[in-house]
Amino acid sequence: MTALRLTGIILEGRGQGATEHAEAWVVDGRITYVPPPRGTDMETLLEGVTLPGLVDVHSHIGLGPAGAVSHETAAEQAVTDRGTGVLLIRDAGSPSDTAWVHGRADLPRLIRAGRHLARPRRYLPHLAEELDDVGDLPAAMARNAGAGDGWVKVVADWLDRSEGAGSVVRPLWPAAVLADGVAAAHENGARVTAHTFSHEAIDPLLDAGVDCIEHGTGMDRDQIAEAARRGIPVTPTMLQVDNFAAFADAGAARFPRYAEQMRAMFHRRDEQLRTFVDAGVQLLPGSDAGGSIPHGVLPRELARWVAGGVPPAHVVAFATWRARAYLGVGALAEGGSADLVVYVDDPRDDVSALERPRAVVLRGARV
Ligand SMILES: [Zn+2]
Repeated sequence: MTALRLTGIILEGRGQGATEHAEAWVVDGRITYVPPPRGTDMETLLEGVTLPGLVDVHSHIGLGPAGAVSHETAAEQAVTDRGTGVLLIRDAGSPSDTAWVHGRADLPRLIRAGRHLARPRRYLPHLAEELDDVGDLPAAMARNAGAGDGWVKVVADWLDRSEGAGSVVRPLWPAAVLADGVAAAHENGARVTAHTFSHEAIDPLLDAGVDCIEHGTGMDRDQIAEAARRGIPVTPTMLQVDNFAAFADAGAARFPRYAEQMRAMFHRRDEQLRTFVDAGVQLLPGSDAGGSIPHGVLPRELARWVAGGVPPAHVVAFATWRARAYLGVGALAEGGSADLVVYVDDPRDDVSALERPRAVVLRGARV
């Protein structure tokens, strides 16, 4: 039997908080705080600050700029994320069936949300399952509930080009249909997350009992307070929202009102990020990699939160044990899978340390 010894600070997540240990061992792929018996072969000592593996709840494994990608490319995406310490991914929608990833011990743990559900011409091309009839949403959400790993992704709003110069981002679904859809997913054992940029999409999502909000750029203070009260987390995807000014510029000539809408959200993005935290909303770490954003940028997204005013110790908690607890996956409890990252410097003091993992250990194996 060979054990890997960790020293320094090992952070064991316990729901919303964490316990510090000075020493830990990895034995047979599992973490233990009980010293292995004498005579055990002791491998490399890894000294530093050990965190439970980072989480990316919005990384589209299996999606490229032109839609579904090959298994080989999807595996490369997952390996790229893994190199940054991301060891647990919820994909937030993928056009590829990536269930095979579950059989690859070398790839991060993956929680699939199946295909995005949208309407024709109301989302990025080649990506979503497009429903011609809005009334088909509940049946599609029920079906997707069984197809993924306990999550369904719905596109709640997108640019509606039907109003010419007056076009803006607006909801895709009547509120009652959306509510039926969320209920159908829940009845079939899945939670629901929603893509949303606009203000108008938020009340129907909250009323429908959505479980999670992606982007959430249209949320006002009351809606943020309501999300906090209901324990609905938000994935702020700041690297994506940083692109809103460019989206506005690109659309300004044809869709001036859309451009105005996107610019307003762009300008208040940091203030909104702080409002989420001040209101007690759980932030979820999401890179939105796979479309226009490359894989492997989660540490940059987290540094962006700090630049926006979230204290680094909070960011570390949100990106590791708190996200893991929300997804129902362990965070270095005694006997749990050794999915961990070791850093020389403490990312709770300096978030840039997340860019420089000293070692990444997945299922007990150093990768
Ligand atoms: Zn996305």
